[in-house]
Amino acid sequence: MRRILRTVKKLDEQRRAVLSKEMCDTLGIAPLDRVEITCENQVITIRAIEAKCKLCGGTEDVDYINDIPFCGECREFGKKRE
Ligand SMILES: [Zn+2]
Repeated sequence: MRRILRTVKKLDEQRRAVLSKEMCDTLGIAPLDRVEITCENQVITIRAIEAKCKLCGGTEDVDYINDIPFCGECREFGKKRE
């Protein structure tokens, strides 16, 4: 059976709302993860995204440098070239 989680939140002064742990666990997201937020037809959707390395497309140990995702290997390779 499909389970729907629904909650009513009040936005704070900066228009932020906090996602419940239960909702985050359902999406498989944790604090500091990145999500895709879409607004369409008066509905805002928050979707978990899998970070992929900008250079090789890898998904292992991805971290962001200047908002660009890089895997651990490519970050190490970049350090050696500096
Ligand atoms: Zn990479």
